[in-house]
Amino acid sequence: MNTVFIALGSNLHNPIYHLEKGIRQINHLPETNIVKRSSLYKSKPLGPKNQPNYINAVIKIKTKYEPIELLDALQKIENMHHRKRIKKWGPRTLDLDILLFNEIEINHDRLVIPHPEMINRDFVLIPLFELTNYNFNIPKYGKLIRYIWVFMSKKYKFIVVEGPIGVGKTTLANKIAKTEGLINWNDSAQKINGKINGLYPVPGAFFIYKGERYKILKGEIGNGNGNPGEIISD
Ligand code: ATP
Ligand code: CA
Ligand code: CA
Repeated sequence: MNTVFIALGSNLHNPIYHLEKGIRQINHLPETNIVKRSSLYKSKPLGPKNQPNYINAVIKIKTKYEPIELLDALQKIENMHHRKRIKKWGPRTLDLDILLFNEIEINHDRLVIPHPEMINRDFVLIPLFELTNYNFNIPKYGKLIRYIWVFMSKKYKFIVVEGPIGVGKTTLANKIAKTEGLINWNDSAQKINGKINGLYPVPGAFFIYKGERYKILKGEIGNGNGNPGEIISD
């Protein structure tokens, strides 16, 4: 069986309906099963701004389909949602992009894998992180967590991590600061409020930006004295 990650997006005519239905349709493809699905995420449109916000998600599937066969099947599903290609990045009822296919790289006229824009899109990176873990590797590009950090550090001065005491927030931030050399971090936020500390999304906790709260479900965290993976609310 092949392991494939697919990004879903919709911004027309009840986007959640189209996403949920699209997920069911993929699950019904022969010799194909959904293994995991992310939460739904809201995002602002790419390209033309005069269109509604998007709802996005990422799913992980197992399938017997080969890459081009899978693309054909997904495009058929898009067409069943009356997907129309009027302008680039214009509004759509359902968009299904193949992000990753096993560990392979493909450069075909109709299919590029890994999806070349995935590393630039938070609405793909964050749900993918929800389904994977801190060490997850993107073929050709490298560690997923690095792109999440690069993306966030460009856009935001700092990120607040909120979670139960002992969940591993500080440990992870320290580990990343050391091994990746990416962050010049300190935990000053912790001194302001005992319940939060700065700078890095931690599996099992939440991270929040622009007022939106994202949950991180899984990952390698902590140093053993914490309570990894506990979700305290939605
Ligand atoms: P973007 O690819 O930047 O997200 P889009 O999803 O709006 O843009 P579409 O109009 O849905 O683009 O697709 C254009 C073509 O992209 C498709 O016909 C398909 O052949 C091709 N394509 C290339 N790589 C992929 C991929 N990994 N997943 C899905 N389609 C792909
Ligand atoms: Ca797309
Ligand atoms: Ca597409």
